[in-house]
Amino acid sequence: MLSTKTFVERFPGTFYSIEGFISPDMSDSTAHTPNGSPKTPDSAYAGFQREDLLRYARHFVLPHVGPDGQRALAEAKVLLVGAGGLGSPVASYLCAAGVGTLGLVDPDLVDLSNLQRQVLHGISQLGQYKVDSARDRLWDINPNVEVVGHRARLTSDNALEIVSGYDLVVDGSDNFPTRYLVNDACVLLGKPFVYGAVDRWEGQASVFGVGDAPCYRCLFREPPPPGLVPSCAEAGVLGVLPGIIGSIQAAEAIKMILGVGTGLAGRLLIFDALDLSFREVRLRADPGCAVCGEEPTLTELVDYDLFCGIEPDTAAAIRKPVPQVTVAELEDRLKDEPRPFLLDVRERYEWEIGNLGHEGAVLVPYAEVWGRIDELPTDRPIAVYCHVGVRSALIVQQLMENGFTDVLNLKGGYLAWVEEIEPDLPRY
Ligand SMILES: [Zn+2]
Repeated sequence: MLSTKTFVERFPGTFYSIEGFISPDMSDSTAHTPNGSPKTPDSAYAGFQREDLLRYARHFVLPHVGPDGQRALAEAKVLLVGAGGLGSPVASYLCAAGVGTLGLVDPDLVDLSNLQRQVLHGISQLGQYKVDSARDRLWDINPNVEVVGHRARLTSDNALEIVSGYDLVVDGSDNFPTRYLVNDACVLLGKPFVYGAVDRWEGQASVFGVGDAPCYRCLFREPPPPGLVPSCAEAGVLGVLPGIIGSIQAAEAIKMILGVGTGLAGRLLIFDALDLSFREVRLRADPGCAVCGEEPTLTELVDYDLFCGIEPDTAAAIRKPVPQVTVAELEDRLKDEPRPFLLDVRERYEWEIGNLGHEGAVLVPYAEVWGRIDELPTDRPIAVYCHVGVRSALIVQQLMENGFTDVLNLKGGYLAWVEEIEPDLPRY
């Protein structure tokens, strides 16, 4: 916690105006209580500055926080990866809550297109590093917090060093390569991390790297190939959505620091802003996980190509057109003979959210297709689907290169099927 002297230096004039609101009783109670003395009820507040008593008044009276919880928050060191859409509410609320040290990692500058959702920044910060803009705003909220800015992208070279200086990590990144780095670094260092992601009208949150609970890689073994995912700018996102998901991440981080409540470890929370619905999927650790499994093969960090805004050379090759079928055409073809074999190449947790098992679909996750190729029929068409039709297109292309002649990609994937054919199935 900053001393009163530092506070006054940083914000001249502020301290005196705050002091005017403190009752004489309140200021006396801390000024003369010896540290650690259990004799009077006031001793619980030993060590707090007078302005802290006002600032955190709603925490001091709150069950599960109180002065001990407030001390735990002040001693906590939280790293926030990304000072953007998710980072804005996370940083603001953790700072306001009195988290002692808040690290921010972000290589980007504030851009006008950020302001639709990144409410930490404003017009007067355009062109500044986001970590600098964020620090100024955060110190305006609470100058007691040490804000450490890392003006860098998280890479395999710096991730372990940066992450090791903190107790827990909140991931507010917007791309898969960074998300995998955060996961792997946290698992290797034994640090928990609070995951959040937003896309269009939907968001997800969970907590990974805690005890026997799964890690992010247990859900998705490898990042999608470069060039196969629409860029962040292409996909779009509802401005308020990161505000909702980031606030959930902030709540999870605070609960972990306080050691209270039931966290999201082992559960994936899925929020749909269009329906205003929350759903939950149970997550299981994968014993074969490359980083947290029984025989981990990934013992040091690896970088993946960035594809959010960067178009790798391989993208054009991967985007070769493949035979497609629309959901309406597929519905018709499922009534005919020979009935197409429906191959679902999503991950298990996606299957559990919703699937086409009632149409005979069989789940073979993307990474397992080559090991289970014998299970695929050669006497009838195979229609491959995933969430939106991107992973499945790659599988169709690879199956065709390996002798399968009648393979189709379901255009728009599971999501298109739900939207056009079976709107009662869960969306995600
Ligand atoms: Zn894992």
